[in-house]
Amino acid sequence: MTCKNCGKEFSDGAFCPYCGTPQYTQSVYKSTDGSSVGYAILCFFFPIIGLILYLVWKDEYPLRAKSCGKGALISVIVNAVLVVLYILLIVIIIAIGVGSAGMYYGALALL
Ligand SMILES: [Zn+2]
Repeated sequence: MTCKNCGKEFSDGAFCPYCGTPQYTQSVYKSTDGSSVGYAILCFFFPIIGLILYLVWKDEYPLRAKSCGKGALISVIVNAVLVVLYILLIVIIIAIGVGSAGMYYGALALL
């Protein structure tokens, strides 16, 4: 990055090593933001928290907010798929139950 005061280049830091001017620029802002797998996983298990964190951070920490939003979104999709599979499983079990009951009464009718 380049110093705001003296214009000399130096590696990332809060202060210029040449003149000591504080560098509260984008690089400082960016260092606190960033996509986070940890938050994504947290928000996967707690999508409500993910939604809240997304709304809180979307302006200040857009990348981190995106991680939370993504985690929560994936969680909602996975849960929706699981619910559909669960319903499908119940329908299949009922169908098999009705089918075998039908066979049972069919066998009785033969006797
Ligand atoms: Zn400087």
